[in-house]
Amino acid sequence: MSKLNKRGLTSKYLFKGRLKFKTALHVGGGKINVTNTDNPIVRTPEGFPFIPGSSFKGAFRSMVEKLAVSIPGLRTCQLIEDEESFKGKSDEECLRIIENKDADYCPTAIHKEFAKWKQNKTETELITMLEDKLCNTCTLFGSPYMASKITFHDLKIGDWAGVTQIRDGVVIDRDSERAKDRLKYDFEVVPPDAAFDMEIWLENPNPTDMGLTCIGLNEFLSEMAYLGGIKSRGLGNCRIKDLEIYELNLETDKKEERLMKYLTHTKPEDKMENISDPSHFIQTQIEALF
Ligand SMILES: [Zn+2]
Repeated sequence: MSKLNKRGLTSKYLFKGRLKFKTALHVGGGKINVTNTDNPIVRTPEGFPFIPGSSFKGAFRSMVEKLAVSIPGLRTCQLIEDEESFKGKSDEECLRIIENKDADYCPTAIHKEFAKWKQNKTETELITMLEDKLCNTCTLFGSPYMASKITFHDLKIGDWAGVTQIRDGVVIDRDSERAKDRLKYDFEVVPPDAAFDMEIWLENPNPTDMGLTCIGLNEFLSEMAYLGGIKSRGLGNCRIKDLEIYELNLETDKKEERLMKYLTHTKPEDKMENISDPSHFIQTQIEALF
C-alpha cells in the first residue's frame, strides 16, 4: 500500500530564504570527486556543491524532536524503537495493547507489532488509528505509514567562494583520546560564508504542525543550527537569512478568490499571500503551542 495522503488542499505555506554558513560545510557522500580527497562533498551533475533536502530535513527534524520532548502536551517518539511496551508479550497481547485506546505509543516506534496489526485492517481503520496514535513529529515529518506534510527542497548554492577546500583530520582513539599515529584522513568542505537558497513547503498543517515547524525555523534563525558532518569541529554552523513566508489559506470566506489566484499564476510570490512580518508570525505560532 502506498503512503496515505487523504485530504484535499486546504492550506499551503512556503518558507523561503537563504541558509548562510558561518563555518565551513561538509555534506559528504558525493560520487563526483573533483579534488581527489577521501571524503568528497555532494555535488550536482554540473559539479556545484549543494545540500540535499533530505540532509536539511534530517537536521531540522532532530532539532525539533529534541525540543518537542520538553513541551507539555506534545508527543514525539524521536524515531527511537519502543522496546519496552511489547517485551516478552505474545502476538495476541501485542494486538490488544495496540487496540487499547489509552495505550501511549507511536506506530513508527513499534513498527514490527504495528505491521502485524494492520495486516487485516481497512484503510479507514488504519487512518483512524494513525490519526489517534502517531506522535506529533511523525505526523509532521512523516512516518512509514503517512506521508510527510513538510517538504524540504534541495538547496542550490548561491554566493560562495567558487572553490572548495581540503582539510586534514586525524582519527582519534576513543579510549586514549589521543590521535592514532599515521591515521590521517582528509575531507572536502565548502568554505565559510557560503549561502544556499532554501525552500520549505508545508501542506495542510494543523496548529501543532505549524508550531513545530516554526520552532525549527526559529532555531535556524538563531544561528543555533548545524548541518552536515564533522560537527565536532564546528562545521556546518548556519542560520536562515532573508526569510519570507507565503500562505495559501482556503479555510476562509475568500476561498474562491484565493484559489483562482493560486491556480492562474505561476510564481509562488504571485500565487500566494505574503506574510508581512515573518518574525511575528513565527513567535505567534510557537506561543500557540502552550
Ligand atoms: Zn513518532
